[in-house]
Amino acid sequence: MNTLTTDNFRAMLQRAYACIKAREDEFSKLDAITGDGDHGTAIVSAFSAAIKASEKDADFKTMLNDMGFAIMMETSGSTSTLLGAFFLGMSNGCAGNELDANGVKALFNGGLANVRKQTKADVGDKTMMDALIPAVKAMDDCSSDDIADLLSAAAKAAKKSAEDTIDMIAKFGRARNYGERSKGSMDSGAASWATMFGAFAG
Ligand SMILES: [Mg+2]
Repeated sequence: MNTLTTDNFRAMLQRAYACIKAREDEFSKLDAITGDGDHGTAIVSAFSAAIKASEKDADFKTMLNDMGFAIMMETSGSTSTLLGAFFLGMSNGCAGNELDANGVKALFNGGLANVRKQTKADVGDKTMMDALIPAVKAMDDCSSDDIADLLSAAAKAAKKSAEDTIDMIAKFGRARNYGERSKGSMDSGAASWATMFGAFAG
């Protein structure tokens, strides 16, 4: 795949929504270990609002902006704030309706930059950033011009780093109160974001 179009991206979103929906209960159960157990429901409703907004006929940049705003307007909580910020940031980074490899890197870097405005969490803090940051870095480090290669590098990095959260102590959110006891299970946000990147790769 040499260019990413709005239609390609809509297909990626549909795959991501299906994969996230399929694991909804699992994400809530993971969140329940050290939190309020709502992550599955929250990520599914945020994604569902984004999908609905993505179905309108619009250019790539507007579509991403609409998706981010739909999440912010229709859902609440940290899950939607972060996912909404991601799509709004992707809109900032979006330069055209047919993106080449560098355009796709700019798209995802825009998303990450805007999420960084919402959370100070970094790699190692046991949050969704453990999936997002390595995914975007893997894309940046990938020298291929084939967008499928970028997406698959991102998916692989996100999956591995989400698995790494199993041995981490949580530093953010309610989970931080659990200290050592937060070890032993994957972070729910890292799990759902890694699932999204996995589905983006197809
Ligand atoms: Mg929660």
